[in-house]
This record gives sequence, structure tokens and C-alpha cells, in this order.
Amino acid sequence: MTQVPRPNSAAARDVRSQLHPYTNPLALEADGPVIVTRGDGVWVEDEAGERYIEGLAGLWCTALGFSAEERLARAAYDQMRALSFYHPFGQKAHVPGIDLAEKLLAMAPVPMSKVLFSTSGSEANDTAIKLIRFYNNALGRPEKKKIISRIKGYHGVTLATASLTGLPNNHRDFDLPLPGILHTTCPHHYHGAVEGESPEAFATRCAEDLDALIEAEGPETVAAFFAEPVMGAGGVLVPPPTYFEKIQAVLKKHDVLLVADEVICGFGRTGNVWGSQTFGLQPDLLTCAKQLSSGYMPVSALMLSEAVYQPIRDNAGRIGILGHGYTYGGHPVACAVANEVLTIYEERELFAHAATVGPHMQARLRTLADHPLVDEVRGVGLIAGVEIARDKAKRQPFEPAQGVGAALGRHLHRRGVITRVIGDTIAFSPPLIITDEEVDAMVERVALALDDTL
Ligand code: PLP
Repeated sequence: MTQVPRPNSAAARDVRSQLHPYTNPLALEADGPVIVTRGDGVWVEDEAGERYIEGLAGLWCTALGFSAEERLARAAYDQMRALSFYHPFGQKAHVPGIDLAEKLLAMAPVPMSKVLFSTSGSEANDTAIKLIRFYNNALGRPEKKKIISRIKGYHGVTLATASLTGLPNNHRDFDLPLPGILHTTCPHHYHGAVEGESPEAFATRCAEDLDALIEAEGPETVAAFFAEPVMGAGGVLVPPPTYFEKIQAVLKKHDVLLVADEVICGFGRTGNVWGSQTFGLQPDLLTCAKQLSSGYMPVSALMLSEAVYQPIRDNAGRIGILGHGYTYGGHPVACAVANEVLTIYEERELFAHAATVGPHMQARLRTLADHPLVDEVRGVGLIAGVEIARDKAKRQPFEPAQGVGAALGRHLHRRGVITRVIGDTIAFSPPLIITDEEVDAMVERVALALDDTL
């Protein structure tokens, strides 16, 4: 972090002009921002020329890393030259949008029928909530509207999706969650299980908790359950074996839709194309974003099964319109770039590459488990969390006031690794292009930063 920014430096101008998301404004005013100026491969560089391994792929999104991909710049340029803007409102369409919708339907983990584009993960999830309302109204059951997500789940920051997000900082002083959005047990065995409870027994208890919540609310009032296959921003929490199988049995019993939030897990992150494949989800709706364009363009998608689409179609037909859509949803330039990104993934066999480097990263990070600060190392594929603790024998976390997580973040930065310390967990989600050697370099730097924090 820059020390006392010079008056007209980019850092000083930034402090004067920008309100930063997910930032403590007092810390920003005191230290200034890190101005990131360029990148190549898994590396980024700041304006002072310091280089960092980007251990989080930006915000879990830059699967192809940070090198200038000529083909993507060309795809954007060509599309801007051909048609800089159009939209699918009314009876219009553009070819890049059609191509991308077809590709997504062909890739989907379960048969899906339609794609609706927006620009962010939040918008895709918000759209899912709205269409689920529309769907249940179409089916003549207007009382079936409540949505359940999990404590520590992350689904976005709009009013509705921040409500779905099960993290205190997304609710506190924003007067959230909105009514009708409920949270059930977080499936993190390490912290959630009672003594001697096996992962499978814990999964059974999570499903029983969900069942009890639905029963208490009245199944006729519960519309949908949102879940990330691996919970990312909540601290990289991997569900125990049998969890989704048991959860889906409960959802089926009560006729509750499953929405898979694949915003982080989609496109190779967990060792398969979709997290739903890694964990056996059979969603009725699926949302994705981030790696859909490798972060080059803001684009997200919601996929609907035929069974969800049909009542929506009939109802919108009756009304005469589906009253929903974003100006920039499915922007032709974003779609053209995403189409090229998906082609590059295929040509370079990037998901297969991620599926081989993933186990290496998991094994290397697990070597940190012997460190006196490290409590649990968890993850799957190229997503992982390393949790530190004050007393690992007793699984006792640090008090937030001790500032150990923040200190660790500073040491990681000084050692040249950019990642996110979520509470007491260092999150890893590097670009999918990362090599075994780069994983080794990253883990060596993390080990040094842990020593610095002791
Ligand atoms: N869903 C998940 C699982 C996410 O991780 C995120 C963002 O990190 C979102 C939704 C929201 O996406 P966005 O920030 O693009 O609105």
C-alpha cells in the first residue's frame, strides 16, 4: 500500500474521488490504494513496478489470467465495428447473443431450455428471484414465494440478492434481509459439526434443518433454495459428501426449486465445467457470470429448465409481455467476447488443465496445515481456503479486534501474493491457466507470510 500519497498522484486522486466497494474508507484514506497498472499471465503489477501473483483471479473471474489476449480485443473491436449496441427487447435479437445462448445450453450440466442475459452475478440472481415469483403466480400459487439460502452463502448485493447473501456485513445497517428471504444451516463440517459427528451425519442434519425450516414456514409458502456448489465469498466452504443429495430430496418433497449459483464455480473452477457436476446438483435454474467472459466483459446468464420456462411463457403470453430486462443485458460486444472466451477454453483444453493443476494446488496448500497458525485447509479443484486460528487444537478463532487476519493480508501483499483474507480464511481461486510451478511459488510466498504473521 502506498504511504501518504503525493498530492496529485493517482492514489491521492483516487482517495479524493472514489467510494470503494468492500473497503474500509478510513484505511483507504490513511494508506491510499494499490494502483494496479498491468498484468500478464497470473501476475499483476502496480504503479511502483511491484509484481504479485493474483491468487484470486481478480474477483474469482480471470480464468485466462491478465495477458493481453489479442483475439478477445479483436472480437470486441470487430463487434463494435459491426454493431456496437443492440438488445433482445421486443422481437429483436443479435447473432452474438444467439450464439452465446446456444453454447450455454449445450454446456449446461442438466437439460436447460432458455437463457436470459444480464451483466452481473447479482442481476442474474435477482432475475432468478423475479422469475420464480412470476412462475408461481403463473401456476396460481401466489403464496409460494419465500426463498431460502444458507448462512455464509453469497449471491450478490442488490436488495434481494444481498438479502439472500448470508453474511452480516451485507445486512448490517442496510436494513436487510428483506422479508420472505430465509437462511438455513451453513454446511461447513469443520465448524458446524458437533463432536464425533461424521461429515455424512452432519449432511443429514443440514438437510433435516432445511426440512424443519420449510415445515415451519409451510411448504406451500416456500418457492426456491439458492446454493453455490462451493461457497466462495463466505470463506471457501466445501459441502460434506451426500449434502446435496440429501438437500435435493428435501426440496423435491416440498416442490421447492433449486437454483445453482455457479457465478464462481462455473467454467472449470472445481475440476468439472460446473460445480453442479462436481457435487451432483440438478438445478431447475442456474446462474453464471465471471469466468463466462474471463472477466473481460460484464456479462452474466440465467438458465431455466423447460418446466420453469413453460408457465412463465404462458403467463407472459397472457399478459402480453415479460416485463423484465436490462439495457445492457446480453450486450453484443460482451457476448462476442464471451463466445471467443468459450472457444479459447475449448481450444486450449483449459478445464482439463485446471482439473490437473487443481489437485496439485490442493496438495501443496495442505502442506501448510503443519504451520502453527493454520487450522483447516479445504477446497476442491482450483478453489481453496486456508483458515488460521488462535488455538487450532480447540478450533478457537482469533478475535476480529486482534487484527490478525488484516496483518496476514498485509504480509501476503508484501510477499507478492494478492488474495482475500475472509475473516480468518485466506481464499485462493487463481486463474485457471496457472501452472504447477506458479502454484509452488504462490504457496512458498504464503508460507513466508504466515511466518511473518506469527
Ligand atoms: N454469486 C456468487 C457466488 C458470487 O461469488 C458473486 C460475486 O462474487 C455474485 C453472485 C455476485 O456477482 P456480481 O458481483 O457480479 O454481482
